[in-house]
Amino acid sequence: AKENGRNTFFFYAAEMNSQSLEQLLLANDLRKALKQNEFYLKFQPQIDLRNGGMVGIEAMLRWNHSDLGEIQPNRFIPLAEETGLILSIGRWVLHQACKQAYFIQQKCGKKLRVAVNLSAKQFQDPKLVSAIRQTLQETGLPAESLELEITESILMENVEKAQHLLNKLKQMGVRLAIDDFGTGYSSLSYLREFPIDRIKVDKSFIQKVDTHPDDAAIAKAIIVMGHIIGMKVVAEGVEQKEELKFLQQNDCDEVQGFYFSPPLTAEELSQRILNQPEF
Ligand code: C2E
Ligand code: CA
Ligand code: CA
Ligand code: CA
Repeated sequence: AKENGRNTFFFYAAEMNSQSLEQLLLANDLRKALKQNEFYLKFQPQIDLRNGGMVGIEAMLRWNHSDLGEIQPNRFIPLAEETGLILSIGRWVLHQACKQAYFIQQKCGKKLRVAVNLSAKQFQDPKLVSAIRQTLQETGLPAESLELEITESILMENVEKAQHLLNKLKQMGVRLAIDDFGTGYSSLSYLREFPIDRIKVDKSFIQKVDTHPDDAAIAKAIIVMGHIIGMKVVAEGVEQKEELKFLQQNDCDEVQGFYFSPPLTAEELSQRILNQPEF
């Protein structure tokens, strides 16, 4: 048994080491990725349910690693957060997203909104507001065309600070959305305290509205209550016709998901808008 215990210990130690070594190597590559131009953005359309037109796009960060190829955001964003690299990466995303959205607006003559995901670290950055103001000036994108997506937990961390920050952003004309709504622990009535334009119902509920009555009831309640407190409601992760039908019947405002389109490059997106003006 003793022997066995020792082996187990070595086994775990080796596994831990290789895991942290991998993390360490990846973090090191992450540090170089900006300079080496390995990041790029894709944009996923957001559709207005009342007329079927595209009203916005959400910027999704992509990393094409020189040896490992495409690495999923869920793997490298937490690492970027831990290392603090998310601040410089986030600035890059913000700038690129505004620049490319402005380009698409000009090319297609359509006033699209662009949503950018903000991480907790970025939200704590004292220079966030000035960086956003500067980015809008540099890129020419109107403030009301920029939407920032933050999660409930970021708001909950420091309510007063978050209120102050969101009010400042709101004064600039920037839009605000709550991402992954329903997965955290805050209530809708509590969101009233913040100047929020849109809530995005998490895809884990949306994908089950057609098969699980509990999830359908939750989604329905979020739409109704969201409207009562004056917010638009967006459903993310719509994949199936039945989900879409449910959302239409229950008066959801906007939808986003593979059913309509995966995230596309700015070039692919412009092509699609030009070929399909009604889109
Ligand atoms: P998120 O903000 O909730 O973004 C939605 C994710 O769902 C994206 O994954 C998107 O590609 C995917 N998705 C879209 N439609 C569907 C669908 O119909 N079905 C399913 N199953 N998935 C769908 P992605 O691009 O891998 O991003 C994962 C997460 O990484 C994002 O979740 C967001 O939290 C984070 N992220 C992505 N880009 C950025 C960024 O620029 N900055 C920060 N801070 N986080 C980012
Ligand atoms: Ca998002
Ligand atoms: Ca989300
Ligand atoms: Ca489903």
